[in-house]
Amino acid sequence: MKVKPFSLSIPFNTNPPSDWKDTWDVQLYVKVEDEEDYGWGETLVAGSGIINSYLSIINDIVIPVLSKVELTEPTDVRTILEKILFSAGNCGVVSGAISAVEMALWGLKARKSNVELTRLIGGKVRDSVKVYASFPRFGKIDYIIIATRKSIERGFDLVKLHQSPSSVIDAVKAIRGNYKEVKIAIDLNSPFDNLDKAKEFVDKVHKYEIEWVEEPLWPPNDYDLLSKLTEFSPIPIAAGENEYSLYGFKKMIESGITYLQPDIAKIGGVSKFLEILDLASKHKVRVLPHDRPDASPLSLIYTLNLGLVKSQIEMVEYTIADFPNDLFYSLPKFKDGYIYPSENPEVIEENIEKYGYKNRLRILHFSDLESKLTRK
Ligand SMILES: [Mg+2]
Repeated sequence: MKVKPFSLSIPFNTNPPSDWKDTWDVQLYVKVEDEEDYGWGETLVAGSGIINSYLSIINDIVIPVLSKVELTEPTDVRTILEKILFSAGNCGVVSGAISAVEMALWGLKARKSNVELTRLIGGKVRDSVKVYASFPRFGKIDYIIIATRKSIERGFDLVKLHQSPSSVIDAVKAIRGNYKEVKIAIDLNSPFDNLDKAKEFVDKVHKYEIEWVEEPLWPPNDYDLLSKLTEFSPIPIAAGENEYSLYGFKKMIESGITYLQPDIAKIGGVSKFLEILDLASKHKVRVLPHDRPDASPLSLIYTLNLGLVKSQIEMVEYTIADFPNDLFYSLPKFKDGYIYPSENPEVIEENIEKYGYKNRLRILHFSDLESKLTRK
């Protein structure tokens, strides 16, 4: 089995332009190939763009291991890589790198069996999946209003904001002043390091009818703190994009959150995602998969295909940027807030060089970092 990683920078252009234009153009694709066929997968590279750390896992472990062993089942490959790498921590960079490889193996398996991916994982129960518009951070309230208008016109009924904790309430007020009906969610990306600050925020924003508040607490995996907040909060709490192990997901569910948000490109790929869905259904927690709303559709297509098979996936995070139209043989089709995803995603390999990776320091001004770092 051959494994080939590709580093890319797919420009993240939105209209209106966002503050994250220069931080979300970091993508890592993987192609796996045997004598008969191939498949593609994607890793979600951390917002700081530490792409070489993922490449090192692939180059130093995945490539030599898969050139030697006869394993072809995606789940078995994932498990053996997890066992080889566990003392480096089966999360973050490790599980992220494994995700792309595991996903690509599903793509390969589908192509070799000449069936859709959905057939391999249980069969379609529907043809489309509901999505919501996940905004990047905007520098002006006017931009948020324009983005909201455009999203409503396209057919989205829910928008999610990534404004800073200090400015998001003004953004919500402005949206509510213009659009009464649109649903609004708030993604905070883990700013509040104590419960009181989180409670104060929830109290202030409650009257604007918020669908959920996402990752309010720092650190995101303090389940005790999370329990205390879910007990208090009249607004549903969502979390899970920074969770990796089944045990961690279980603890997170037990903390009383309303929505679980695993990311297929971070946790270890399709098979791990299916295990988490089983866990979620056992505990009756609702599932809203995370997908970084950048301009790269590859891992998103896998998530959406899972959504065709598993109706417990209520809605998937979706970008407001356009996907590049020369990098895939077919792209997901959007209609009235629903996506009809392409099957078995296939990258146009000869066009990858148009999206050559640009190495630079990328620090996402998530959370409350904007007050702690000076931009130059
Ligand atoms: Mg989020």
